[in-house]
Amino acid sequence: QAVSVDFQKQRVHFMDGSCQKYHQLLIATGSHSGFLKVPGADLQNVCTLQTPEDSSKILELATGRNVVLVGASFIEKSQASRLPASARNINGTSLQPGAAAELPAWVLAGYSCFYSSTAWNFLVNTQTSLFQMLQNKGVKFHMKTEVCELKGKDGKVTEAVLANGEKLPADVVVVGIGSIPNSAFLKGTSIARDDKGAILVDLHMQTNIPNVFAAGDVVSFPVALLNGDQSSIHHQQVAEAHGHFAALNMLKKDRDLHTVPFFWTTMYGKSIRYAG
Ligand SMILES: Cc1cc2nc3c(=O)[nH]c(=O)nc-3n(C[C@H](O)[C@H](O)[C@H](O)COP(=O)(O)OP(=O)(O)OC[C@H]3O[C@@H](n4cnc5c(N)ncnc54)[C@H](O)[C@@H]3O)c2cc1C
Repeated sequence: QAVSVDFQKQRVHFMDGSCQKYHQLLIATGSHSGFLKVPGADLQNVCTLQTPEDSSKILELATGRNVVLVGASFIEKSQASRLPASARNINGTSLQPGAAAELPAWVLAGYSCFYSSTAWNFLVNTQTSLFQMLQNKGVKFHMKTEVCELKGKDGKVTEAVLANGEKLPADVVVVGIGSIPNSAFLKGTSIARDDKGAILVDLHMQTNIPNVFAAGDVVSFPVALLNGDQSSIHHQQVAEAHGHFAALNMLKKDRDLHTVPFFWTTMYGKSIRYAG
């Protein structure tokens, strides 16, 4: 793991004490999940989803249990559609008759943090909206509120308390409230970052430091669809395009980033594609 970079001497220092000299450097360290900052957030069975191991752990913990998902973005909704059907209803009672009765009641609490309000409104208001699909499967949504406390017993989470006073039984809480660029190891250096820690790059994926490039979730870049304003877009396809253009420019090919952000996912057999 890289723990610091000396841009003057062009050296990267690693956790094991070794270091590596570079002529050109590409920083592509991605991002990590944001953590809840409320009392009880450190209780057992409060999870974030980042790795396949996290996913397996959540599936194991959620089976037959009450689950609260915090955050209403795509990631959390994808998660809701993948949790096991054998999880319990949040009230411990069966839901509406039909398939939903066998399905879990997942609770999604939090502000919508969807990628754009136009897309959000489209998805929420159409007949085939994600909301409807998930509600039909027994998911309960609590929108325009937030979790203000997690309570527990014997060190394990048992309840999520919402800002409106509602209390949700919770054996497992999955937090999906955004991601933070992995750039802490650059703190104290002269590399330009925004207030969230994203490294600022130009259309060549070049940072403000000569011979240093950055790409993927860790950057804020000029987005054509935002009239060139800097922004971060955490999509796999964007990260791939960044890597492609960073490589071309490291090879002195002088190519401006040109890509339309594209995202896809599947939920309950429906595929969703999003461009722009
Ligand atoms: C649960 C989840 C679901 C997602 N689903 C989708 C989806 O359906 N579609 C989509 O388009 N995108 C999705 N994404 C986003 C997508 O995964 C990211 O946008 C993409 O992986 C970013 O690529 P990256 O190369 O910038 O970073 P990453 O893929 O995160 O790779 C960064 C690598 O750098 C390593 N690293 C970090 N710090 C250091 C350090 N100091 N030294 C050395 N190595 C370091 C990390 O361990 C990691 O291996 C999802 C993300 C998550 C978490």
